[in-house]
Amino acid sequence: MTESDTQTFLFEKNPNPVPASEREALLQNPGFGRVFTDHMVTIRYSEERGWHDAKVGPRKGFDLDPATVVFHYAQEIFEGMKAYRLPDGGATLFRPDANARRFRNSALRLAMTPLPEELFVESVRALTRVERDWIPAADGAALYLRPFMFATEVLLGVKPSAEYVYCVIASSVGSYFKGGSPAVTLWVSENYTRAAPGGTGEAKCGGNYAASLAAQAEAIEQGCEQVVFLDAVERRYIEELGGMNVFFVFNDGSLQTPPLTGTILPGITRDSLITLARDLGLTVREEPYAIDQWQADAQSGRLTEAFACGTAAVVTPIGKVKGRKYGFTIGDGGAGPVASRLKAALLDIQNGRAADRHGWLDRL
Ligand code: PMP
Repeated sequence: MTESDTQTFLFEKNPNPVPASEREALLQNPGFGRVFTDHMVTIRYSEERGWHDAKVGPRKGFDLDPATVVFHYAQEIFEGMKAYRLPDGGATLFRPDANARRFRNSALRLAMTPLPEELFVESVRALTRVERDWIPAADGAALYLRPFMFATEVLLGVKPSAEYVYCVIASSVGSYFKGGSPAVTLWVSENYTRAAPGGTGEAKCGGNYAASLAAQAEAIEQGCEQVVFLDAVERRYIEELGGMNVFFVFNDGSLQTPPLTGTILPGITRDSLITLARDLGLTVREEPYAIDQWQADAQSGRLTEAFACGTAAVVTPIGKVKGRKYGFTIGDGGAGPVASRLKAALLDIQNGRAADRHGWLDRL
């Protein structure tokens, strides 16, 4: 940790860290979300003391009363971001300020006390510095950081909690999809929607993901990897996948992605890809796209590619779409050139191989 981190965060070293040889073995093939590092950040909030007790300490469980608010009323939010290994052996975060802002917006939507954005950024920097050796070096691998915050008041009553715990854990990860990112098959959810106007769709709260699981299970049952949600009002327009935004590519070279109207998560990958596509001279529209149109365009050849994007999945081509009323293949069912080009452009910046023209890297 640097001096400025140590001023904010008390550091308690884990007395029993994973031995280096064991860690190196784990980093060879970490999978996703199963290999955890030795430390975590915690910061507490109470109405009397504000944010206090900022600490980087050994990773361990929480001792919580059964009547803790989060267990009953799901007042909880989280973030997902990655720290990348640089060619010189250093480490970098990618747009942590954007995650800090989204975390704040999620807190406000869930009536939670927002964590100051600078404190969020300092917390992920502090943990990444301590866990630098856990960042895998392989291409596509990274240290996934999971900041989250939950209501800790002990109370059975539907009201905003007066106390919160903020925490950051870290997990060494490889590719999100087994076997890299082959094209995925999507299931169009007609029985379930993800978010309604006025709901919590643009907040990153655990409840949104709990609500998506039945639809995801239906997708798996139908032999698909991921679910694609339609809007809750007309059940017509594409929104996003369970944990990824979506882009469409047309034969005139233009791209389209659903607009941020409050029901989808404003992805940081989505935002970055819009910028990178425009840098490459491509036109990008943020406009609604109907499922029937998607099928017609895929069949006529007007649509040449579609891909999903997010921190975990990076850029993942969509090969096929299935539903009770739908069934179509996109292009030749594999990765298209625009998705591949954008993915390479993004990864080159994140891994320090290309110039960081937009100031997105936060080198540690
Ligand atoms: N949509 C949803 C529902 C998500 O959970 C995520 C992952 N955070 C995304 C989109 C992509 O967001 P980002 O690019 O910031 O990871």
